[in-house]
Amino acid sequence: MKDIPNWFGSMVFNDAVMEARLPKDIYKALKKTITQGTPMDLDVANVVAKAMKDWAVEKGATHFSHWFQPMTGVTAEKHDSFIAPAEGGRVILEFSGESLIRGEPDASSFPSGGLRATFEARGYTVWDATSYAFVKDGTLYIPTAFCAYNGEALDKKTPLLRSMQAIDRQALRILKLFENNTTGNNASADADSDKRSPQRIITTVGAEQEYFLVDKELYLKRPDLILTGRTLFGAPPSKGQEMGDHYFGSIKPRIAAFMRDLEEELWQLGVYVKTKHNETAPGQYELAPIFSTTNIACDHNQLTMELLKNIANRHGLACLLHEKPFARVNGSGKHNNWSLSTDTGINLLEPGETPFENAQFLLFLVAVIKAVDKYQDLLRLSCASAGNDHRLGANEAPPSIISMFVGDELAEILEAIESGTDYHNKEKAQMEIGVTVLPNFPKDTTDRNRTSPFAFTGNKFEFRMPGSEFSIAGPNIVINTVVAEVLREFADILEASQNFKTGLSDLIKATLKAHKRIIFNGNNYSDEWFKEAEKRGLSNLKTTVDALPQFIAQGEVFEKHHVFTQSEIYSRYEILMEVYYKTIHIESLTMVDMIKRHIVPACINCQNDLASLVNLKKDQFDTALESYFLDNISRTSASLLNKLIALEKLLAAHMPEDILDHAKVYSQKVVPAMEQLREVVDELETLVGEKYWPLPSYVDLLYSVI
Ligand code: ADP
Ligand code: MG
Repeated sequence: MKDIPNWFGSMVFNDAVMEARLPKDIYKALKKTITQGTPMDLDVANVVAKAMKDWAVEKGATHFSHWFQPMTGVTAEKHDSFIAPAEGGRVILEFSGESLIRGEPDASSFPSGGLRATFEARGYTVWDATSYAFVKDGTLYIPTAFCAYNGEALDKKTPLLRSMQAIDRQALRILKLFENNTTGNNASADADSDKRSPQRIITTVGAEQEYFLVDKELYLKRPDLILTGRTLFGAPPSKGQEMGDHYFGSIKPRIAAFMRDLEEELWQLGVYVKTKHNETAPGQYELAPIFSTTNIACDHNQLTMELLKNIANRHGLACLLHEKPFARVNGSGKHNNWSLSTDTGINLLEPGETPFENAQFLLFLVAVIKAVDKYQDLLRLSCASAGNDHRLGANEAPPSIISMFVGDELAEILEAIESGTDYHNKEKAQMEIGVTVLPNFPKDTTDRNRTSPFAFTGNKFEFRMPGSEFSIAGPNIVINTVVAEVLREFADILEASQNFKTGLSDLIKATLKAHKRIIFNGNNYSDEWFKEAEKRGLSNLKTTVDALPQFIAQGEVFEKHHVFTQSEIYSRYEILMEVYYKTIHIESLTMVDMIKRHIVPACINCQNDLASLVNLKKDQFDTALESYFLDNISRTSASLLNKLIALEKLLAAHMPEDILDHAKVYSQKVVPAMEQLREVVDELETLVGEKYWPLPSYVDLLYSVI
């Protein structure tokens, strides 16, 4: 048994290690960089680098790597060794401040969407000192941001950090207003928060990760899983998730051993993994960390996804992170729990105990309501991908319509505030700003509605649209920026207002009136909701191709808050669109290949045996059974041929130059053709005997791990 408290974070160059290993003045300077974002002197960096290297070498590291998150959505790393030549043919281990702060990976093959001209192939990486360095597999990893020479972001991290700055700036303005206008109020209720005025507002995130585990031997027999991450064929199993016996069921020993291993490795890297349980579908599981600052949560989630795959492999398992590995079986998402916190430890989405705190809470709450309503398309597109298209709106995940759940009780309170009537149901108190709210907010009554895309869950919001394979950077960039923009509007209004209290009250009321249409507490899967949402004028961007153009159409808000420049928006739009149709292209080629090389031969072999048998038996015996199957397989195979030719024709056709039109061919023609083809193959799977069928079935895959 490991000594967990000592084991936790033992491979991380964290605050405790920094304090212990750095001279006091250097430690102080580094802390200042971390907490206030002040630039770091090279002298300081040199000392930090040396301490970091010495520590890493003790942990078995021989190399270092600037670890970054290019726009592919996965992480990238380039390894350099610490080795430097010394006199007499010997080597020394060396690591300079320069190498710590800045790296120059040859980045020409990362997607840049035209941002980086080919003659300037190099981008550079810059240390993100707010996320700790760590040692893994003999390498010191330094979390970095990745930029082109003109400063344009080539990664997901840089805009994420910028969006955190944007919301910090605007939320602080709001807090200052409350501070200046409510002297005498005791602002902080948290026992463990200090009483300083907040200097920074931080966004916090806890990302719950869903995934599937299948046996590795079986995985290796499925080219579709290997090449595309999902099954392109597979007849439905006779037992799916309808019994609900997998959800929170007992964990199988082999899975438990994997989870234990995973947790230990993640703990060692300082990732606070907390819960684990079986999910809705057979073979599906979930893991949740304790929340942290957004950029760290993002780094940790990337690490978690990487370790999930590697450790599964060690246990003879394959981890599937795809949003929809199995048709007709629940898909996987990533619930992005999001909140705002002060550097003094106060959660701004925590309803307070006093009317004053509640007023502040309410303002932040209505800011999020307005942001989600006004920028629903941006939120939707932050979750758009070919994989997630299978999930959103498929009667399991949230639909592709954005709405917000606040719970019945809070909805009633908001209603009362908006209409200026009293809220009668519970003990009430007159707020100083002249609206009626509960002194004690009923936290337990919120949530457990699992169908809402954006749910208030007592002291945070849970955004349930992101796909399991996503980097959480994208969705959080959008949430942070759009909330920052609304807070900016609010701050402008309140700073100009003659009377803070009436100004605040009016603002809350007017905002609710204008944006309450986004609130929906019912069943988001129901047909009535689709009709109702349309009546309310809410968007329903069904596919990635529908959603992505909104990035350009509504991109201004990112420019305004210096999160993306216009060319960064265009480049991301292009990359996302390209990734979309390339994904489908690869899937369709894999499909065609599997049919020609695996499925057709199986059908032929089976028919061959049946035909020979019919021939052999026909004079003396009844051949009804053989003939029946032969006829059926034969006819279905003919249909397979037609559908196969149809798909191949589409793929061979000349594609439009325009990237959007190109993607539309895939979403409107190729995807339906693939679905039709799949249907026939799945039908054949039920007709052709198991001994002929070349692929492990859904039953094999979903129930094989015992
Ligand atoms: P669920 O019922 O949705 O499965 P869990 O308890 O599994 O809930 O997950 C909730 C997630 O929300 C955890 O990762 C938790 O750390 C995170 N969380 C809790 N408080 C906050 C907060 N203030 N900010 C961000 N995330 C939070
Ligand atoms: Mg959840």
